[in-house]
Amino acid sequence: MKKEQEPGCSFCGRKKRETQILISGIEGHICENCVNQAQQIIDEELFQKHKKFQFSLPNSIKPKDIKKFLDQYVIGQDDAKKFISVAVYNHYKRLNQGKNDEVEIEKSNILMVGQTGTGKTLLARSIAKFLNVPFTIVDATVFTEAGYVGEDVESILSRLLQVCNYDVTAAQHGIIYIDEIDKISRKGDNPSITRDVSGEGVQQAMLKLLEGTEVLVPPQGGRKHPEQKMVKLDTSNILFICGGAFEGIDRVIASRMNQSKVGFKKGKEKEQVDTDNLLQYISPLDLRTFGLIPELIGRVPVLVHLDPLDKQALRSILTEPKNALLKQYKKIFKADNITLTFEEDAIDYIVDKAMEFKLGARGLRSICEAIMNDAMFELPSQTQIKELVVTRDFVEEKFERANVNRLKVA
Ligand code: ADP
Repeated sequence: MKKEQEPGCSFCGRKKRETQILISGIEGHICENCVNQAQQIIDEELFQKHKKFQFSLPNSIKPKDIKKFLDQYVIGQDDAKKFISVAVYNHYKRLNQGKNDEVEIEKSNILMVGQTGTGKTLLARSIAKFLNVPFTIVDATVFTEAGYVGEDVESILSRLLQVCNYDVTAAQHGIIYIDEIDKISRKGDNPSITRDVSGEGVQQAMLKLLEGTEVLVPPQGGRKHPEQKMVKLDTSNILFICGGAFEGIDRVIASRMNQSKVGFKKGKEKEQVDTDNLLQYISPLDLRTFGLIPELIGRVPVLVHLDPLDKQALRSILTEPKNALLKQYKKIFKADNITLTFEEDAIDYIVDKAMEFKLGARGLRSICEAIMNDAMFELPSQTQIKELVVTRDFVEEKFERANVNRLKVA
């Protein structure tokens, strides 16, 4: 009769009698030593992953340092940068406050109002980069009130969890940028019964998240996976930054200011009003008139405006920031050993066209792509040309031929 073989650990090979505990699996066994070792590996790996994120601000960092960092990436928008630097600084003060402190620092969620392409998303992204915390962007327009067709507001948190690999502690210290918050403003009658287009329900649903509450989050988001196990997430320490263009709010501001004492009156002692940039005078009252509910406005107490970008700003955006567009093209060509330079009046042309398109800095990219595409297609396949100087003639010719005029906003 064949003698049955003594079982052993499939990892280290020790026989059963040499181990204290031998756990059986479908394909083999594992001993207590190997379980311990495996746990160590898991701990180290997870620690490495956690190390990626940091949840406190070093004492040496002050609001001015935060702004200095933002200056490297975002051109202009000084007011917004100052407000955001202070809000973030205070946010960390709040995180470090004792549970029983008499004076409780409240959350400083931020609301940014500014035309498209002026740097709202860039600001939010840059702050997250500075703080080294999980960051995600969500679009407010996809959310509906629970029970309607669309995504539940909770799925905002699912995205944050996904970004940090379901690390709950990291997610609870993250930043969420909610774009197009203006699109969920109240708009009178609701003609649909399947979708909460009025927006008020969504605004209501967002209140709790913004303020700080424990939410059961479907880790994979949506309602497609009804069997998924919910994850509990506390939103008290998540910083919410909301942004929107609030198209038409300048008229609301103008009308409020006309009614108030400091209107547009002419005269020596009266205040000068910059009618080209009315957003700088925005107040919570205007948001209310626009259709945000007062409770929501109260939960995003830091209200900042972004200035429209003028020619000088667009020019700087092309050339100055750390990852300025023109620097990126130079890098792409350098990889094929081609030196790329842009003449000044070629840059002027690009800026003029971007102003015409009224897409803020967003237009710059499309225009540059149209201009550079032929060269990026042709030059890598040849070896003679080692230098490309982009002149105004070159830019004009490429631009006229490309069909980018469709970008223009009437
Ligand atoms: P918004 O969110 O306001 O619509 P984005 O932040 O997405 O605009 O900006 C669109 C593009 O323009 C991005 O590539 C961004 O890098 C660039 N951009 C916009 N504003 C600025 C700015 N003030 N400084 C530097 N780059 C900017």
